[in-house]
Amino acid sequence: MVLFVTGRCHRSCWYCPLSSNRRGKDVVFANERKIEYSSQIIDEAETMSALGTGITGGEPLLCIDRVIEYCKMLKNRFGKNHQIHLYTAKAPTYEELLALKGCVDEIRLHPSHECWENILESDFIRSAQHAKAIGFDIGIEVPALPGLELLIPALPYLDFLNINELEWGETNADEMRRRGFELDDSFHNAVKGTRKWAEKLCLNEKVHWCSSSFKDSVQLRERLKRIAKNTARPFDEITDDGTIVYGVLEPEAGTSEACAELCFKELGKDGYSICGDHIETAWWLLAEAPDKIPGKKTVIERYPNEGIIVEVTPL
Ligand code: SF4
Repeated sequence: MVLFVTGRCHRSCWYCPLSSNRRGKDVVFANERKIEYSSQIIDEAETMSALGTGITGGEPLLCIDRVIEYCKMLKNRFGKNHQIHLYTAKAPTYEELLALKGCVDEIRLHPSHECWENILESDFIRSAQHAKAIGFDIGIEVPALPGLELLIPALPYLDFLNINELEWGETNADEMRRRGFELDDSFHNAVKGTRKWAEKLCLNEKVHWCSSSFKDSVQLRERLKRIAKNTARPFDEITDDGTIVYGVLEPEAGTSEACAELCFKELGKDGYSICGDHIETAWWLLAEAPDKIPGKKTVIERYPNEGIIVEVTPL
């Protein structure tokens, strides 16, 4: 699960990918779900059978008490094997690290681009040394930017170094254009040519490259599949992409009961659901017998658990 704990941040990186509904706002999201009270976080983790949590922001250490509260809640509910990693663009102090001990398992530092040149003199290396001594797994995670090889001297102090393909977004598009960057293709958010800046570094076994398409296609799809498995109704069909497909029937006036009865006869009591003025049921039932069941029929494909609608197909 991705737990976004605040949109506030002490930095203003030109490549910041945060969307306008999160950037600078003190809001909490568990995956895409806006959190109003903390028990909803457990609910979301259960919905997707989460094995671990990545804490992100904004800058999570601006609300370290909140981070500790959420981590304790997750560890209490799912046990200490629920792996928690924390991203931070600050270099945590020794005291902050001690406060996070037992709550967070792994720390991913995001040193600013400006300090890469003198990374060994930066506070980030001191934080990494302290974190290691306290018992955290410690690494650096940065976007692919020119000059990545400047981070090579930091490798002996780290367990890993993750490089994320630079991503184009609604809020950084102007800065991307100003710097002459282009999109790699018209389907993904990846910026063209950033992999070449990471090539030398990726020869080291501690270094991992995370492509934009992996995040989009693999991580998102796997998360959707887990949520779908836990939340789909018996008549929802789960696709290979983790979306669900079902049919919607809007009965003609006076035929609601007859339509429901027909669904019951074909599929039993779990084969349909009456939702106000319409019936939701297996899409294929409506597609196979369009004349047998009167009313307006559509097939809906959407993210699971009442997520966004991807496609509406009239029958
Ligand atoms: S540190 Fe992260 S959240 Fe903060 S401005 Fe930079 S990219 Fe955005």
